[in-house]
Amino acid sequence: MIYLHIPFCKQKCSYCNFHFSTSLNAKEEMISAIKKEIYLRKDELENKSLQSLYFGGGTPSILKTDELQSIVDEVLKYFSFDSDIEITLEANPDDLDKNFLKDLSKTPFNRLSIGTQSFFEEDLKLMNRAHTSGEAESSIKRAQDFGFENISIDLIYGSPTSNLEIWKKNLDKTIELQVPHVSSYALTIEPKTALHTWFSQGKINAPKEAEQHEEFFYMTEFLKDNGFDHYEISNFGKPGFHSRHNSAYWKYHAYLGIGPSAHSYNGRNERSWNIANNQLYINSLNKNSLPKETEILSEKDQFNEMLMIGLRTVWGVNLSSLKEKFSAELLDYFQKEIKQKLADGILLVEDNHLKIPEKHWFLADGIASDLFVV
Ligand code: SF4
Repeated sequence: MIYLHIPFCKQKCSYCNFHFSTSLNAKEEMISAIKKEIYLRKDELENKSLQSLYFGGGTPSILKTDELQSIVDEVLKYFSFDSDIEITLEANPDDLDKNFLKDLSKTPFNRLSIGTQSFFEEDLKLMNRAHTSGEAESSIKRAQDFGFENISIDLIYGSPTSNLEIWKKNLDKTIELQVPHVSSYALTIEPKTALHTWFSQGKINAPKEAEQHEEFFYMTEFLKDNGFDHYEISNFGKPGFHSRHNSAYWKYHAYLGIGPSAHSYNGRNERSWNIANNQLYINSLNKNSLPKETEILSEKDQFNEMLMIGLRTVWGVNLSSLKEKFSAELLDYFQKEIKQKLADGILLVEDNHLKIPEKHWFLADGIASDLFVV
């Protein structure tokens, strides 16, 4: 599978610390550099038949549909697509106007991941989103009118402008709009964001963990009651609409990450990441040089990563795979570490998979890191 990072946004959301630029001056050069990187890395993936192509960012929907299509065409020069390939475009509601959707419906894109975040104006203003609550709703309806069925929306809970009642209305609206997939995250205050500055200046309160907990549990039950599978801590999908791309990440499949700041994984012991600077990325590719750093993962790194990723999912961590992959010494240590957590019901073993019971998922990252081998 391939991830393509499109590093441009209209404006900076107050909570975001992803890599992007709000200037489109270098757009043409960036598209050329991305195409060059696709060419230079065409032999890195062993499997040339792609199951998934994912345009993320940044805001990929800031590009014109012919620009997006030209990048897909470049990928097609060197890879083939499985007949049921999932091709996702992350899109912001304000970009999904009639003309854009009409043109997009003629391209191979068959899944939209829409950055809705909330259907409430106050939330959107605090988040400094470029869309209004009206656009949050109308963009979804319009996409459906143009034939896009496989739609995921992002929703953020636990904002200081929200509460459980507002959150319930956001989820009601999601069901009313018949969206088949939801990715939902708690609002967090990350360093180097506007939210962090406002918080330091005392202009906003920190999100309350107890409220976020309550909203998470409400969402979990509510979406399951409405036919969604809760298959990863932050992801809910109706049967047939789980994200194939993200599921492959969570099953440790190899992927190629193209574009500034994109990460890649060879499915074994090697990770790499591209430079998170648009101009340096372009300059490097102009010289036919890949602007990436590579890390060889130690046995401990691989083990910890399998735990961190697997324990966030409904599948858990396959104990047979651990036995095949890791040394007896490391597994002995691990067996001792999980004993108490199994006795306390914080972990369980089901069908030879180690899992966190869903009621403890909210704390999964902490539970997994307690088990890390150091
Ligand atoms: S649109 Fe997405 S990537 Fe861009 S600033 Fe907002 S959250 Fe960050």
